[in-house]
Amino acid sequence: MAAAEADSPISRQELERLVAQASREAIEQRERRILLQRWLLVGALLVIMGFALAYWSRARVLKELERAYFEARKLKIAVDQSPASIVITDCDGTIEYVNQTCIRKTGYSREELVGQNPRTMQSGSTPKEVYTDLWATIKAGRTWQGRLVNRRKDGSEFVEWVLINPVLDETDQPIRFIAVKEDITEREELDERLQSLERFDALTGLANRFAFFEVLEERLGQVSPGQSRQPLALINIDRFHAFNTVHGHETGDRLLRHMARRLAEQAPEDAVVARLGPDEFAVLPPMEAAGDSTVIGRQELIWIQRIQRALREGFVLDSRTLATSASIGIAFCDRRCSELERCRPGEFMRMADSALREAKARGGGQIAFFDAEASVQAREALRLEQDLAEAIERDELHLALQAQVRPDGGLVGAEVLLRWRHGTLGDIPPARFIPLAEDSGQIIPVGFWVLQQALGVLECLQKKKPALTLSVNISAMQIRRTDFVAGVERLLRQADVQPSGLILEITESVFMEDPELARVRLEALRALGVGISIDDFGTGYSSLSYLKRLPVTELKIDQSFISGLPDDAADAALVNIIIAAAGQLRLQVVAEGIETADQARYFERHADVALQGYFYNRPQPVAEWRKQWL
Ligand code: C2E
Ligand code: MG
Ligand code: MG
Repeated sequence: MAAAEADSPISRQELERLVAQASREAIEQRERRILLQRWLLVGALLVIMGFALAYWSRARVLKELERAYFEARKLKIAVDQSPASIVITDCDGTIEYVNQTCIRKTGYSREELVGQNPRTMQSGSTPKEVYTDLWATIKAGRTWQGRLVNRRKDGSEFVEWVLINPVLDETDQPIRFIAVKEDITEREELDERLQSLERFDALTGLANRFAFFEVLEERLGQVSPGQSRQPLALINIDRFHAFNTVHGHETGDRLLRHMARRLAEQAPEDAVVARLGPDEFAVLPPMEAAGDSTVIGRQELIWIQRIQRALREGFVLDSRTLATSASIGIAFCDRRCSELERCRPGEFMRMADSALREAKARGGGQIAFFDAEASVQAREALRLEQDLAEAIERDELHLALQAQVRPDGGLVGAEVLLRWRHGTLGDIPPARFIPLAEDSGQIIPVGFWVLQQALGVLECLQKKKPALTLSVNISAMQIRRTDFVAGVERLLRQADVQPSGLILEITESVFMEDPELARVRLEALRALGVGISIDDFGTGYSSLSYLKRLPVTELKIDQSFISGLPDDAADAALVNIIIAAAGQLRLQVVAEGIETADQARYFERHADVALQGYFYNRPQPVAEWRKQWL
């Protein structure tokens, strides 16, 4: 200032101006500073706010991420541990992800699969078209599901049910495929097992009814009129019911398995062999060229007879061989039935069944072919069988007697023969209804009724002539019953008779089927004091020697040997041998079917033989017989 004063003198005005200017500048400067400070503050605030904002949003993102992470983990665990295999591929099918189950199931590591094509797991057993369809479907953005046979790393195959879902972008193009696959190998195996249980008979391993009918239906649909025909054989084991009753079900089952095996061995190649019922089998051979429907082809005869022979071979039980046999009914679905309409399974079965019934009615071990006649007979037989069940109550059964006399005319006794006067059909011969009664088991109550009635008759006879005997026919089925002996004993006690006056007539079939059982039963019966006669002697296959071992008291020479007397030398020789053998064994002899005076005279040299036949009398109602003979 002094310098300024010294250099140039300042006026008062100048000074005031300068002061004013300086103070203005100072104010401006302060204001600028304040403004700057303010801006700084705002900036700092903004920065702080920015930081805060960033911090806050990051936390939120993190939290979001964390949540997503846990979600994803949960998802991953769920996906990894899912019992289903999960495979994710890109749109070209390159594997991006496989879950734990997929790794476990296939035996491949994750590294071995990721980056590969799912083809790695193909077995080659899935048809090509399946894959074509699969790719066409998912490439079009649709879900595909189906069955794939895949292969593990170790080469073994497994079956999967696969569901593939495409993941689409905003233009509906698939960008990814997610495959969820369920291993159904075990389920399919189980299904197969169940199916085999459904289709096979558990006891014999043969096809069951269900499987049989399925094939039958298919085959009948293929029969072409005049060109091909379908044979069918129904096979029924003879007297199986009785076998079961006597030997028990377990042995019965063994017999069935045994018969089934033989049947399967002897059936024609490619035949369906099935078990249709407890003791019934079917053989459905391959279709054959049509012949004349009524003439049976040579080749059929061969296999049918082979089956018949095999089933007759006997069954070894506890080192004894039991005789077995089976009845066979055969029908053809051929030109004849095709002309009317295609053979339907039900109708075809009825045809074979009616043939079977005919075979049975002939006494078992027989073969019969279906013809219309037979079917009428079968229907009739069925009706008779049903009516017989009520015959006792309806009082339609009665006894007839046929005398047995010595050659000198002395009365020995009589044979009881059952008669059935049907309410509408009239008299039905025993040869017709006895086999039906045996088949249906009704022979048991009917046979018991006959015995009961016969003992009443015997009581009357013995009152007049104590030495008279009464012979009663007993079916093999009755003998096999465990309660038969007790039943006879009870009836004997109830009637006031000499047991020796009762003679039970049995046939050789009783021994042939089960000699040991026959021996036991007959001994028990003998112990009751009754006589045992072998009816129709000579018609069975048994030898004379077995008579030594059996507690038998009488032989009844079958009428077929008598009919040739006196001229047929062979018959005469046989009759003489039987009489001589009986003498050795101290057995009584009855000759049945004496029709002529010559035949009666033939026996004059055998004074001890009893004679029975139309020559003396036809079987007569009891009262009539008594009047004539007593
Ligand atoms: P079977 O026991 O051999 O009886 C003899 C059969 O020959 C009787 O036939 C009888 O009438 C017949 N007959 C008697 N004399 C002559 C003759 O001179 N010439 C001819 N050609 N035949 C004669 P039927 O009464 O028809 O009985 C047939 C079969 O039925 C019997 O044969 C017997 O096996 C069975 N049967 C009859 N009654 C019964 C019964 O009560 N129970 C059982 N289980 N079977 C019976
Ligand atoms: Mg008899
Ligand atoms: Mg006889």
